[in-house]
Amino acid sequence: MISHSKISVDSIIVGQGIAGTLMHFALKKRGKKVIIIDNHHKGSATKVAAGGINPITGKRYVKSWRFEELMPVAKETYRALEQLLDIAIFKDRNIFRILKNAGEENTWLGRSGDPLYSDYFVENPTVNEFGEHLNSFPSVGEIRNGAQVNISHLVEKYRAHLLKNEELISESFEFEKLEINPKIEYKNLEAERLIFCDGAASRNNPFFKYLPFEVSKGEALNIKISNSKLEKILRHKVSIVPTTPENYWVGASNDWDFVDDTPTQKGKEELEGYLNQILKSKYQIVDHKAAIRPTVKDRRPLLGKHPVHHNLFIFNGLGTKGASLAPALSEKMSDFLLNKKTLWEEIDIKRYEKLYLPQ
Ligand SMILES: Cc1cc2nc3c(=O)[nH]c(=O)nc-3n(C[C@H](O)[C@H](O)[C@H](O)COP(=O)(O)OP(=O)(O)OC[C@H]3O[C@@H](n4cnc5c(N)ncnc54)[C@H](O)[C@@H]3O)c2cc1C
Repeated sequence: MISHSKISVDSIIVGQGIAGTLMHFALKKRGKKVIIIDNHHKGSATKVAAGGINPITGKRYVKSWRFEELMPVAKETYRALEQLLDIAIFKDRNIFRILKNAGEENTWLGRSGDPLYSDYFVENPTVNEFGEHLNSFPSVGEIRNGAQVNISHLVEKYRAHLLKNEELISESFEFEKLEINPKIEYKNLEAERLIFCDGAASRNNPFFKYLPFEVSKGEALNIKISNSKLEKILRHKVSIVPTTPENYWVGASNDWDFVDDTPTQKGKEELEGYLNQILKSKYQIVDHKAAIRPTVKDRRPLLGKHPVHHNLFIFNGLGTKGASLAPALSEKMSDFLLNKKTLWEEIDIKRYEKLYLPQ
């Protein structure tokens, strides 16, 4: 329980999804005192995501943005968190792509011959592992150096760790109780800075709603396939990602026009439709979830300092790639906050300063 007398901290973080969790971890590593305020929303993106990390993406099979810089930091950070929390969350996983026609096969072959991609394309893949569970497809490709991080488990365990250390206030942040001049004051807390890691909710955040969020809703199923033990991720119109023995995460839909963040019948039917095209085996739906991704117009993260209030910051816009982006970007953000290092131009919210209209 947090006491009612004044508490001084270096930073207050609002939101404990993967962004807030890794921001806290990075600042603590640098010896800072940090408190998180989080409302534990069950439909947050991190709690619904598969945590897949895919080095090669899209219809042209191109390398994911800055993958070679992001991946080593991700691996190291998740391994450190596994140690701290005594959990297993990081798993190297190859990714199968179904190539459904000659055009896709040609694009694949062209890319796999590129020496810059030699670390990622497996020669002569077969889908033996999927064996009797899969419908037949003309051809498949296989990508190595992918991974899966159980980020929903990570944030739950980190939450327990924060509660034990009295570093979490489990409630909704009340904007009207915030004082920002000259110091951050919020209820009984005072701080040097406040960092918003509030995910898709940031599009209603009075300080940062000027940023061009273009959020999308994703739905996912958890299914069980009896007598199966698939280790690799299968990617076609949806991804099938192994979770626990015989259990798989299936997703995700991508909806730009939605009412709220709850699961829908339409979303479930869409996912089942794709699944039925891929799987021959019978499966059982165990769970159905939905959340809103904090996606941005230019598909790049949103990090940096508020244009006017210089003790307010944002770490957001992780879009569809929170698992790979959050570790390296929380390091960048810490160096920016504490050591005055500059952020990469593509992620710095300065790029949108013209959109800010002073109140
Ligand atoms: C269906 C689906 C599948 C996905 N699959 C993948 C994948 O395979 N790989 C991948 O890398 N990414 C995936 N993503 C994207 C990934 O989930 C996001 O990039 C990431 O989780 C965003 O993390 P975040 O911390 O910014 O936001 P969130 O996870 O949404 O966290 C925000 C937190 O802030 C809290 N909060 C918000 N407002 C307040 C407030 N006012 N007061 C207190 N607390 C507040 C919320 O409760 C929440 O805990 C997927 C997303 C979806 C929806």
